[in-house]
Amino acid sequence: MKQNPSHNNRNIISRMSDCTLCPRECHADRAAGQTGYCGVTDRLTAARAALHFWEEPCISGTNGSGAVFFSGCNMRCAYCQNYSIAHGRNGREITVERLAEIFLELQAKKAHNINLVTPTHYVPQIIRALEKAKSDGLTIPVVYNTSGYEKTDTLKALDGLVDIYLPDLKYYDSAISRKYSNAPDYFRVATAAIAEMFRQVGPPVFDILPCQDSDFSDSANEDSDISETALMKKGVIVRHLLLPDCAQDSLDIIRYLYETYGNDIYMSIMNQYTPLPQVASIPALNRRITDAEYNAVIEYAISLGIENAFIQEGSTSSESFIPDFGGEGI
Ligand code: SF4
Repeated sequence: MKQNPSHNNRNIISRMSDCTLCPRECHADRAAGQTGYCGVTDRLTAARAALHFWEEPCISGTNGSGAVFFSGCNMRCAYCQNYSIAHGRNGREITVERLAEIFLELQAKKAHNINLVTPTHYVPQIIRALEKAKSDGLTIPVVYNTSGYEKTDTLKALDGLVDIYLPDLKYYDSAISRKYSNAPDYFRVATAAIAEMFRQVGPPVFDILPCQDSDFSDSANEDSDISETALMKKGVIVRHLLLPDCAQDSLDIIRYLYETYGNDIYMSIMNQYTPLPQVASIPALNRRITDAEYNAVIEYAISLGIENAFIQEGSTSSESFIPDFGGEGI
């Protein structure tokens, strides 16, 4: 039996004064202005809301994804690709009502979906904003774009409000997740979260849209029956960003996902890792992924028989994937 999201929402809102929204379980009184590991109080803060064209082609489509980038992050990875908002906490405070308006403004700009980027620590406010926006006419799919470091009971509060889950699965080895994200339990936690996401939305459902160009190829396997003309309406896409010198971790993750879900989810295998200034003192992270490293992972995915995967072609490891967080659309 499905839980009543509104009832669950009330439970989750009360957690802001003793915050256990995510696996960090800081118990910070965010309602009183304290911050936990995510670095933010209960004041909703976002750095950018705009059409975004750099997601997978079935998310960006021809018009773009309506991406809202929230400030703060409960992962705070050493190599963070959105450092200025996740660590630096740039952004502007907004009300729940303003967030609902932003969703409707993005829909009016013809966004294919609402893309909630790094939303975990604001789930209670996001639920209220989605409920208001939906009652005011929001009809496009909602994408929950997350590091994957989520608690299943927090995700359950989103049941019925989110159409597409876009989690990362960053690490398999706990030594690596401890070293780069201070999260030795990452694989156990994130895989349980992905199972809950799949329970909610199930296998992928697509609409057709006109053809487009993209930095992503549509599949690791040319026999895939999903073309670049498909726009996702429902489903799970698990992203994995290759990190330098972590090739075995990538193979283990891909094998796990395929053995667990087969072709009922999509994978997005990414080579765009960009060493930003904060990793200059971490030699292992201070380089890009080589073509040979990436190709070996793709060949492994193909050898397993994976059909539903997005891959990146050409030299995509560029800072051009990092948007301007100057407050556009907020
Ligand atoms: S959402 Fe933030 S304050 Fe709450 S448990 Fe997670 S990291 Fe801690």
